[in-house]
Amino acid sequence: MSQYQTLKLDRERSKFEAIVEQRCPQCREGKMFKYSFLRVDKFDEMHTNCPVCNLRYEVEPGFWYGAMFVSYGFSILILIVLGVVLYWFFNDPPIMGYIVPITVVSLISVPFNFRMSRSVFLHLFGFVKYKPEIR
Ligand SMILES: [Zn+2]
Repeated sequence: MSQYQTLKLDRERSKFEAIVEQRCPQCREGKMFKYSFLRVDKFDEMHTNCPVCNLRYEVEPGFWYGAMFVSYGFSILILIVLGVVLYWFFNDPPIMGYIVPITVVSLISVPFNFRMSRSVFLHLFGFVKYKPEIR
């Protein structure tokens, strides 16, 4: 058992769970990233291949460029939600009341945004079939 493999679940993970937990789309067991997203210096380091089923995560050269569009979507979502919250709960503050909080939250959410966008992109656009027999 590799150090990255965790205890096996009695039941299979759903696709949604695998995306949120950033696990391999083929086995839904192996973790995509080497470290926790709290490791600010290494949150972006991925395994080249799945530690459990050996699937190559970058399914084709330049594959991760597509994840930038998902990341862009997350950023816009954060911007809109935070903008609405600031407008309604802080009585439409002056322009710096929008710029500063949105910039700070956007920067803080970089690790989450980066990892989740890659996970979503790989699961939805990687065209990797789930093979439960590999687990
Ligand atoms: Zn795998």
